[in-house]
Amino acid sequence: MIAATPFSGQFCKASATPGADSVASRGSPGRPQDQVLAAEAATAEGNRPAAQAVPGRSAEPVPVQARTTAAGAARTSTAAAPAQDGAAAQAGGSSDAPQPARWQRLLADAVTDPRELCSLLALDPALVLPAIEAAQGFALRVPRGFVARMRKGDPHDPLLLQVLPAAAELLEVPGFGADPVGDLDSRAAPGLLHKYQGRALLVATGACAVHCRYCFRRHFPYAQESASQHGWRPALEKLRTDTRVNELILSGGDPWSLSDRRLRQLTDALRELPHVRRLRVHTRYPIVLPERVDDGLLDWLAGVPLQKVVVVHANHENEIDGSVREACARLAAVGVTLLNQTVLLAGVNDSADALARLSEALFAARVLPYYLHVLDKVRGAAHFDVAESRAIELHRELAARLPGYLVPKLVREVAGANAKTPVGAR
Ligand code: SF4
Repeated sequence: MIAATPFSGQFCKASATPGADSVASRGSPGRPQDQVLAAEAATAEGNRPAAQAVPGRSAEPVPVQARTTAAGAARTSTAAAPAQDGAAAQAGGSSDAPQPARWQRLLADAVTDPRELCSLLALDPALVLPAIEAAQGFALRVPRGFVARMRKGDPHDPLLLQVLPAAAELLEVPGFGADPVGDLDSRAAPGLLHKYQGRALLVATGACAVHCRYCFRRHFPYAQESASQHGWRPALEKLRTDTRVNELILSGGDPWSLSDRRLRQLTDALRELPHVRRLRVHTRYPIVLPERVDDGLLDWLAGVPLQKVVVVHANHENEIDGSVREACARLAAVGVTLLNQTVLLAGVNDSADALARLSEALFAARVLPYYLHVLDKVRGAAHFDVAESRAIELHRELAARLPGYLVPKLVREVAGANAKTPVGAR
């Protein structure tokens, strides 16, 4: 799910597609990419049907695979997945089979059916059919805890607008394309993007806890380009030979869709790369599914012998409730530096009031506002775009209201540029 993304994108500069080693896969089930992801999701360690095996890919215990079908957005979910190592013990079970951790169960139970989302929020049923149609290309996925922070009966709720598929996504708009930030041109190895000096970005997985409709990687070919699906090896080999890289950024998708075991595998391997001194994680989990910040994740983080930065992704103050503040406090307690990246989104946070309240709420949660991104021009998200002149005006108003440390940098990611490009800098 934004942040100085070294190599790439913004959010988690999170981006996108769930997929494989985790749970959710975005996109319609009928695409070849989704078939691969579905097979991987079913895999859950030893759980993959032989006929679906994907040679060369290591399996991740996945909680589930829930999808929105074209015809009816049925929640097809779920399968069961084995879960994190040690989860059974955490759950107090006596079975030899590992049980999903709580966050994985919550993830598997996410809302994926537009009809259910509209029903839960008492919304006009007329919103359902366009949502089902738009979800065919990029499925709906939103954790129930995040839904609970939305206002009932309000189709303009700023959290709802970020996740509800809309007919506007189907419009072709000139200037909006599949790879707006040039990710594929910066590919250094499968799943490894290298854009900025000293930093490299690992597309760790395609899976996310939530599907943000404006995601700049909503069309990213995760089935081929997720590093974990290649057992990390090509990416690690590349990193081994490039001693200029001193910071590794885990992005995606959302890297915390991976189990603690897979994350530990990766960071254990980093011990052999002494030039990598910092680990940065771009994630929306602490915001949309804060239960992910559990003892297992904190144990992993505490054991990583690198400086650690976690860049969360929140766009509106209503996203930050007590559970989010608690998750952030737990991260801070194990020595993590917390930053936030926001995307400026029409209808969601395009006012100085909304942005100022977001900065205040973030700081109350121990998170510093880092970047305010203008929208990456990805196909399907044009209705979220805010004119650059308006973005500059808002940013100036924000700077006039808040202390400097609460004013995020207003930036754009330009394909081929070797750093984020400041917008409207004087
Ligand atoms: S869908 Fe959302 S959480 Fe996932 S990578 Fe994109 S912006 Fe981040």
